This record gives sequence, structure tokens and C-alpha cells, in this order.
Amino acid sequence: MRALVLRGHGDFSQLVIADRPAPAIERGGDVLVRLKAAALNHLDLWTVRGLPGLALDFPHILGADGAGVVEAVGTNVTRLAPGDAVMLNPGVSCYRCDTCLAGEHSLCPEYRLLGEHLNGTLAEYIVIPEQNVLPIPRRTAPGPVTFVEAAAYSLVTLTAWRMLVTRARLRPGETVLIWGIGGGVSGAALQIAKLVGAFAIVTSSSDAKLERATALGADVTLNHATVDVPGEVRRLTERRGVDVIVESVGAATWERSLRMLARQGRLVTCGATTGPAVTVDVRRMFWYQWNLLGSTMGNAAEYREIVALLGRGALRPLVDSVFPFTDAIGAFERLAGGDHMGKIVLEIPS
Ligand code: ZN
Repeated sequence: MRALVLRGHGDFSQLVIADRPAPAIERGGDVLVRLKAAALNHLDLWTVRGLPGLALDFPHILGADGAGVVEAVGTNVTRLAPGDAVMLNPGVSCYRCDTCLAGEHSLCPEYRLLGEHLNGTLAEYIVIPEQNVLPIPRRTAPGPVTFVEAAAYSLVTLTAWRMLVTRARLRPGETVLIWGIGGGVSGAALQIAKLVGAFAIVTSSSDAKLERATALGADVTLNHATVDVPGEVRRLTERRGVDVIVESVGAATWERSLRMLARQGRLVTCGATTGPAVTVDVRRMFWYQWNLLGSTMGNAAEYREIVALLGRGALRPLVDSVFPFTDAIGAFERLAGGDHMGKIVLEIPS
């Protein structure tokens, strides 16, 4: 099969489209999916460059997000059949340990991500446990969910859902601040915040992205390159601060985040793109009774929930651009350039 492979860590010159052996069903619970679309995530850039402690067998197939058609199923699979249009939950757990049996799949000691620890979706075929596969939901308006949409949806929506709903327990009427609108998680977080009924403040260094965010429902937009964000937020909230902050930036925004976190506020983080080392004044933390929350990916029940919301049209992925598979490098360059608003998707020819 054709696949986009990473030959070794480094830059995009390590990415090539190559012939690889198609994966085969090995366990009764496996599903073989012929992929129709795959979406890129920042995770893919980190994997290209090399993550500390991540040892890969090269050539490695990137890509966490994918959607396609079931080609074959293992002997124990009853929920899916060849021909089903499906979308994939990128986080693979053991599904046997006590943590998994308690439903907390993303806390499983064996939790691994497609495209990071496992071969991913930038290929014609993938084999994946049936627990990670859901039918693409039927949607009547605005038309059926496409493979492109289904591929664009999973990782960022699941991540943002767990952050805002499960971990931060965002409630109607609360104020939420989302740093750096434009990436996939922040766009999904904005949609979820509005679905919950919260007041959403978003930031970006790009006025064009802030304009798009307003069209997507943001109540206030702040250009963090030109505006003192904590000062402006304190003014907007009559010095109260925000109830929930969505963080994935790390070192560059952490101190400003804490300067505008309300009493009993929740800061929830899923990343540290500008660096992992931050400080917390413990006196302020206990006095203001803050919750500093980590979050990563989500469990199977959360995935079912967000896929149902996709089917109802309550949440929709924001697609920036669609590239042909043959121009996968162009797609990676667009992701690395940072000008995108929403997901970058590759269509995989059958
Ligand atoms: Zn497990």
C-alpha cells in the first residue's frame, strides 16, 4: 500500500510517499479500514522532529486522525461489517486493565496514539481495535458527514471535550478564555464553550483569525500581540477574572493565565508548545482556591458523545484546507507555517 512514511527524525525531507506492506488483521477484535481521508495535528510535527523518549521503528507512518470504509473485520467483531463508513478514535488502550474497565482509557498504562507510538492514518490501510472505530453518524442537515469532516473531527474535538466538559466542568454562563485560536483544539474548544452556553473570550496574534473566531461565536476577541490580555480580561469581568482557561501554550502564556484566573477558577492544559517549565505561587493557588488541571485525549464514552454531537450537527470540525495525498508535504508545510485556521486534511485515493 502507499503510505507517507517518516524515514528518521529531522525535517520534512525525511517524509516520503513509499510502498509499505498493508497491515493484516491479527486479533479477533481487529478492524481493517481502507482510509479515505486523514487529518494532520501538531502532534505530527513533534513526531517528525522527535520527542524525548519516543523510540520509533523507521520507516514510521504518521497521522492520528482518519476516516474510511471497513474492508474486513476479525472473528470477534460484531458491531461493524465490511462496507461501513467509519471514523477513528486515535487513542488505543489495552481495553483489559482495571483503568480501561473503569472507562478511563486515556489513563491506561498502555495508552498509545496512532501516528505517534503506532503506525498512523497517512496510508491506504490501517488495522485498529474495534473499540476505536465508530460508524460515521448519519446527519441530515447540512448534508451527510463527509470523510474529510470525519477525519478532521476526532483528535481535537475529543481533547477539547475532555478539557472543558469532563475536567473543567464548564457550566452555562461561566466565562472561558481560549489562547491562540486557529489550531484545532482551540477551535473545537470555542464551539464546545458556546454549546455549553459559556461566554467565550479568544486570543490570537492574527486579526484575520480573530475575525473568523467572531463568526464562529466568540463573544470577545483579543489580539495577544498588541493587547495586555490579563488587564483587558480583568476590565471585561469587572476584576473577577475568568472561570476557565484553556491552555496548551505553556511557558509563554502561563503567568498571564494565572493573573486572570478567577477565585475557584480552573486552568486546564493539554500542552506546552512554548516550553514546559512554569512556576506557581502556591499562596495564590490556595488563597484563590484554584484548580490546575491536566488533560489528554479522552475515553471511549467521551468519543461516542462527541460523535453523536457531530451527527446532530451540534459540533462541526473547522476545515482549513484539503490536500491530495500526493501533496502531503505541502500539507505539512501549511501546518508548520501556522497560517491555517482549522484542520488540514489529506484525501487518500482509493
Ligand atoms: Zn488499559
